[in-house]
Amino acid sequence: MELLGATTTELREFCEELNCPAFRGKQIAGWLYKKGVSHIDEMANLPKSLISKLNETATLSRSRIVAETTASDGVRKFLLELADGERIESVLLPYSDRLTACVSTQVGCAAGCAFCASAGLGLIRNLSAGEIVDQILTLQAQSGERITNVVYMGVGEPLLNYGNVVKSVRLLNEEVGISARQITVSTIGVIPRILKLAEEKLQITLAVSLHAPDDELRGNLIPLAGKYPLRELLRACRAYSETTGRRVTIEYMLLAGVNDSPHQAQRLVSLLKGMLCNVNLIPYNPVPNLAYKRPETKRVTAFREVLEQAGITVTQRFERGDNIAAACGQLRRSR
Ligand code: SAH
Repeated sequence: MELLGATTTELREFCEELNCPAFRGKQIAGWLYKKGVSHIDEMANLPKSLISKLNETATLSRSRIVAETTASDGVRKFLLELADGERIESVLLPYSDRLTACVSTQVGCAAGCAFCASAGLGLIRNLSAGEIVDQILTLQAQSGERITNVVYMGVGEPLLNYGNVVKSVRLLNEEVGISARQITVSTIGVIPRILKLAEEKLQITLAVSLHAPDDELRGNLIPLAGKYPLRELLRACRAYSETTGRRVTIEYMLLAGVNDSPHQAQRLVSLLKGMLCNVNLIPYNPVPNLAYKRPETKRVTAFREVLEQAGITVTQRFERGDNIAAACGQLRRSR
């Protein structure tokens, strides 16, 4: 069995199967998730007999850092190689008051977003819960400090890898010790899964990549979202916030001349009327060989003002890690 990705309960059961006391499972979980060990042999307080049984019957798979880049603002981006040789990206974002890890959930992605650096690839495979948690443990070890926040905003569509993503959230919460309130899952808006997620009773933040105020443009920018009409999507977001009591984040990435007009801002206002949400405006991070551009600052400000005048809370993602191509997929693509 693979140890990384197992809960304490599962590890206790596994120890019993090996004819060892169940409390050893708790110790193993501590080595995996609190100490972040890479090898079974490092689990120093386990009896030698258990170490050898584990070596025979279990694996502990950690990723390997293949490349790292650091931007002038301290954002560090990592290319990680998984046990089967596939490569993923993870980003460490230091802020004055928190340390955020941005994690991938799939190798490649099926969403096919027109503006995204990872789109051409298609979906290769889902990451396991252990591979998602590994990214946080790896970034934490690299920084030497505790990760306080996790955003599921790397490569992949989290809600199309639903079971493993939810399990990884629980592991981060219960085993690694990261509060669910500091975890954000970002989705293109897979409606049935949003409704299911609402029932999981997790206090995480749901972020929905809207990017357009009408279905036609949205379907062009995010082909897979064509299946999820805006009206129904926003109904699902409302249901999510009613069930969980949590404010939903609406992500709106601004592409010059495509979705950044004051008229489009007005349409967005109408869509969001009466919804418990805030809007995160994301000026586009240009991708080589794609024609999309970031709007000028005054255009971003004008868009923002329309929302604010309607009483919507707006946050703006400041471009970070610009010179290391921190937008999703850019590092993997450059290799
Ligand atoms: N698949 C999920 C999470 C991954 S991306 C989702 O789409 O929500 C996280 C966010 O970054 C999404 O809103 C995505 O549309 C946006 N994004 C992708 N490429 C970008 C780029 N080059 N510049 C700015 N934002 C980008």
